[in-house]
Amino acid sequence: MVIAERLEPLTADDDEIRRALEDAFLPAILPALAHATGDISILRPGLLPERTTPGAVQGGMTPEQQQQAKEIAFAALKRLRDSTGITPLHTEADLRAILAWMTNGKASDDYIPLLLEELSPDQDFRAPKWRMPAGTAYSVAIVGAGMSGILAGIRLKQAGVPFTIFEKNDDVGGTWYDNTYPGARVDVPNHFYSYSFAQKPDWPKYFSTQETLLDYFRSCCDDFGIRASIRFRTEVTSADWDDERAIWRLTVRGADGAEETVETNALICATGQLNRPRYPEVEGRDTFAGPAFHSARWDHSVDLHGKRVAVIGNGASAAQFVPIIAEQVAELTIFQRTPNWFVPVPTYHDDVADGLRWLMRRVPYYAHWYRFWMFWNTTEGLLAAATVDENWPDKSKSISQESEMLRMLLAGYLQAQFADRPDLLEKVMPQYPPGAKRMILDNGVWAAALKRPNVHLVTDRIARITPSGVVTADGTEHAADILIYATGFMASEFMTPMRVRGRGGLDLWDFWGGDARAYLGVVVPHFPSFFMMYGPNTNIVVNGSITYFSECEMQYILGCLRLVLEGKHRALDCRQDVYEAYNVRIDEENKKRAWGVSGVPSWYKNAKGRVSQNWPFNAIEYWQQTREPNPADFELL
Ligand code: NAP
Repeated sequence: MVIAERLEPLTADDDEIRRALEDAFLPAILPALAHATGDISILRPGLLPERTTPGAVQGGMTPEQQQQAKEIAFAALKRLRDSTGITPLHTEADLRAILAWMTNGKASDDYIPLLLEELSPDQDFRAPKWRMPAGTAYSVAIVGAGMSGILAGIRLKQAGVPFTIFEKNDDVGGTWYDNTYPGARVDVPNHFYSYSFAQKPDWPKYFSTQETLLDYFRSCCDDFGIRASIRFRTEVTSADWDDERAIWRLTVRGADGAEETVETNALICATGQLNRPRYPEVEGRDTFAGPAFHSARWDHSVDLHGKRVAVIGNGASAAQFVPIIAEQVAELTIFQRTPNWFVPVPTYHDDVADGLRWLMRRVPYYAHWYRFWMFWNTTEGLLAAATVDENWPDKSKSISQESEMLRMLLAGYLQAQFADRPDLLEKVMPQYPPGAKRMILDNGVWAAALKRPNVHLVTDRIARITPSGVVTADGTEHAADILIYATGFMASEFMTPMRVRGRGGLDLWDFWGGDARAYLGVVVPHFPSFFMMYGPNTNIVVNGSITYFSECEMQYILGCLRLVLEGKHRALDCRQDVYEAYNVRIDEENKKRAWGVSGVPSWYKNAKGRVSQNWPFNAIEYWQQTREPNPADFELL
């Protein structure tokens, strides 16, 4: 998917160009035009402010700076339209010069190679740098064809490594296949929530809906030619390591229920963290007489119109579908256990502005620089505000000065949203530090839904479920015709219900003792050439992006495969001491983050109370550690 092939010619008249520029994101259009016209002098010193504050319009440029930037962009666009023989910038030195302008010189030398990779304007910097020699007898099995599994397939194909992807569903997409609830959409800007090497100039919305994302992942499969390597409606039920032959033996179950054995040299488990629905352990759950379903298994055959609907849970999924179904149902009762922090994002449901899309479709490199701006600004993100200051006196509601500032900002948003409903404000105001649970994006629809006369927010504890509704601890029965579980996923129970047995028949779940860990979230000792994607402690919540993490993981996995194949080994096994030391460090750091220090319930912690999901460091640290495997970390078999 080469973006240049999708661009349209720039043939517009001056007025059309000026109109489009009204919607341009200026901190990215200037780098794109410098890049496309080969004229670095476009990037005037001092045009971008020294510091960009989160949420600042146009990167914090003053109105005068914005006007100046538009004039510069207009002249450059005319040149691009009218002149022939324009040569784009192409050397690494040129890109570095643009990066220096866009980051205001703040990107240290450590960052530059990462930024060049992530930028990826003409070339795919993370594509494998080697190919498996033809004729080598080696194959890889991938479990899951979601965002990470597709990525793994693309990279293995590029490296010439034979592979098969086993997918339990009948199509690709993973979470974007499963979650079809009304209003499902990504809550990361999707110019950013996409592969660095497969960017799209024509995203219709800033935060795309489920259908658009599913289409994106489908087209990635087709464009990179991996669909034929996917076995759909096929579930891997177990994987057993054969010590003698150094291979994995998988048991796979097809659509007809028949089982077969598949042998493979390496196994990549890309089943993610959020794919097995969690149902609440509430007395009487099976007795409910009406339709009942989980948000990730939405039953579209059930008509909600005019019905009394009960929703258990108020996390990211409920926050998206509640405002929509509230308009359809007769009565909607939401059972909230813990309130959430909401982050105001006015453009959350908006179409990408016409002029911005127009420019993205015509200006070479614009989509890349636009994405890059987001990447750069989230490398550290809100990590500082989620980090504990040991001297902060009372850590129950905030954990540092920056955390307190964020808390006041978010509390102010809720106060404004619920100013006319003090009864609701009291219920929705979180009493824990921001970042301790996943924050939810909002453009006002949550408050609007809660204020409707047919919507009831219940904060009493659920005592039991009956055939006709939900009974709370105070004895009230909340009658319902339909019950929807928005109760999340078995996030920390990695890979369930698949059984994985490694060296000497060691069961992975026994080894973990219910507390999943991995080295770099990817490899586990005693399980040779077994790799996880989006594994333990690779979830990022206040900085970075999940696609970026998956790309780093795959780079590391490719390095491991290369180590095995070029060294003529049969497999590699992570050293236990390396794994232990790494996890000590992860745990120590997670305890210093909002999600580690707070006792609020969240899916970031497992049943043992350990933060088994989150990465506590900044984004560059993961990239640095996953660039190449250190052979000394492994036993090579
Ligand atoms: P979730 O965030 O885990 O929320 C589950 C909800 O159910 C919480 O409100 C939880 O209350 C409640 N709950 C669980 N068990 C309960 C019980 N026994 N009684 C009462 N309430 C109970 O699940 P989710 O909303 O499906 O989201 C999971 C994750 O998926 C998100 O954090 C996000 O990472 C991802 N996601 C992303 C998007 C997006 O990008 N747009 C959309 C949806 C989901 P407590 O808070 O008290 O535990």
